[in-house]
Amino acid sequence: NITFPKPSATRLIAVANQKGGVGKTTTTVNVACALAEYGAQVLVIDMDPQGNATTALGIVREQDMRTTYDVIEGRYGIEEVKLPCKYFKTLDVVPASIDLSGAELELANLPDRNQLLNNALSYFLENSKVHYDYVFIDCPPSLGLLVLNAMCSVNEVLIPVQAEYYALEGLQQLLHTISLVQENYNHNLIVSTMVITMFDKRTLLSQEVYEEVKQHYPKIVLKTTIPRSVKISEAPSFAQSVISYDSRGAGSIAYSEAALEIAERSQRVLKAIDKRHVDR
Ligand code: ADP
Ligand code: MG
Repeated sequence: NITFPKPSATRLIAVANQKGGVGKTTTTVNVACALAEYGAQVLVIDMDPQGNATTALGIVREQDMRTTYDVIEGRYGIEEVKLPCKYFKTLDVVPASIDLSGAELELANLPDRNQLLNNALSYFLENSKVHYDYVFIDCPPSLGLLVLNAMCSVNEVLIPVQAEYYALEGLQQLLHTISLVQENYNHNLIVSTMVITMFDKRTLLSQEVYEEVKQHYPKIVLKTTIPRSVKISEAPSFAQSVISYDSRGAGSIAYSEAALEIAERSQRVLKAIDKRHVDR
């Protein structure tokens, strides 16, 4: 019987890594579901045209469904686009579909092109009758305009790091981009969380990746690592998170522990964000 501390203010978290297949969507979906299961009010914004988070959260995609694309193009507010996740009653989803892939080009010449999601999300959170504890944005595998919009809408970046040989190389590039966003667009932004995904405890490489990330980012990387697990990879094909699909399995337990760690850091993280704000 675990109690999850609730954050004193909404935590806004972009899940980002320019590499594909490192576990961004899987982490977004399962951490969001774990937090919702323990009573947190959570919003997931799917910012990837692939819409994998949308599907994994059990949203059936329909032709005329409103999506993130409508939100950033200003056709509808988040209130009018969000859908309830059928598995967890405190979890809402802003779904994405392939039309979002056109947005990068269409929006490229707008003067406020970086702030489109930020404007919509700020308006939504100020006017929503429901208080959200967490907002997660699942980013596409790029560093383009959609990711920039996500990073301008949040205070925190959560970086999934796949336990593999080239993991650290890509990380440097990502952190450099984040520092550019901090300098030019969003001074409040911090990298609050890293999590090692697809960890295989039998391999030395997995251990080494974890140790190296821990050495460089001791306060950022979660103690919990996410094991490579068939149940984790198979859950989305049943339109589910592993939290609902295999609630007692190792994958589910790992994501629940990761979610608990994230929740337990809330005070420290919110304080760090405030400090950046004041220092400005
Ligand atoms: P990204 O969003 O970064 O592109 P995904 O979350 O979609 O990455 O994961 C890429 C692939 O790896 C997916 O097929 C997913 O099901 C699988 N996967 C992710 N995490 C795990 C894990 N811990 N164990 C096994 N497969 C995983
Ligand atoms: Mg993804």
